[in-house]
Amino acid sequence: MPDVQVRESLQRARQRLADALESAGRPADDASLLAVSKTKPAALIREAHACRQRDFGENYLQEALDKQAELADLTDIVWHFIGPLQSNKTRAVAEHFAWVHSVDRAKVARRLSEQRPATLGPLNVCLQVNVSGEASKSGADPDDLDALAAEVIALPNLRLRGLMAIPAPATSMAEQRRPLARLRQLRDDLRQHYPQAPLDTLSMGMSDDLEAAILEGATLVRLGTAIFGARTPRA
Ligand SMILES: *Cc1c(COP(=O)(O)O)cnc(C)c1O
Repeated sequence: MPDVQVRESLQRARQRLADALESAGRPADDASLLAVSKTKPAALIREAHACRQRDFGENYLQEALDKQAELADLTDIVWHFIGPLQSNKTRAVAEHFAWVHSVDRAKVARRLSEQRPATLGPLNVCLQVNVSGEASKSGADPDDLDALAAEVIALPNLRLRGLMAIPAPATSMAEQRRPLARLRQLRDDLRQHYPQAPLDTLSMGMSDDLEAAILEGATLVRLGTAIFGARTPRA
């Protein structure tokens, strides 16, 4: 039975993105939706896929691999790994994903490049940046970003597509925008310094701050709750 809820919430999310782009004076195709499906069953991913959604984000490696196996017939899904990434998990990520948004240190980047199967082409990488200071533990320090970018650009099997952040929760639009603007500035600085890298992606904006993120130039918004509903916390 088709899941009416996913279809409707996906439609609402698309409309919300379209409205945000219009309000920001940006072209309608300037940003796209990454459907964050962590903790949600493969059946809901299949439903979203039937509604033309192709990009899906997962946080937990084993859960993602299980769902990928279940959905192996959907060969045009683009899988994004967006969760914390330890060195001992890099091989499976390099083999089973098209994108990684959470690279925040050189060791992980080097392993991903070494372990990327040649047949798959380069792995698309965003560097995760800590733009909220001590409120966040993950992500590279902005001061270390330029050196990290240089390392990633030099790796043969990675393509440096851009930056990702998960800002600390904020309530007002002005507060939401500040770290997102910072991420955009960091991306612009990298572009100037490394014109040879694509650096075309700003992975920012989630269910609660999509509008702020689009105003600050997001190109890939990562929506979980808004598409698949609330998550029950993992045990
Ligand atoms: C869970 C998650 C999201 C989606 O968050 P929602 O608030 O449910 O939209 C986006 N990005 C990352 C990295 C996540 O872990």
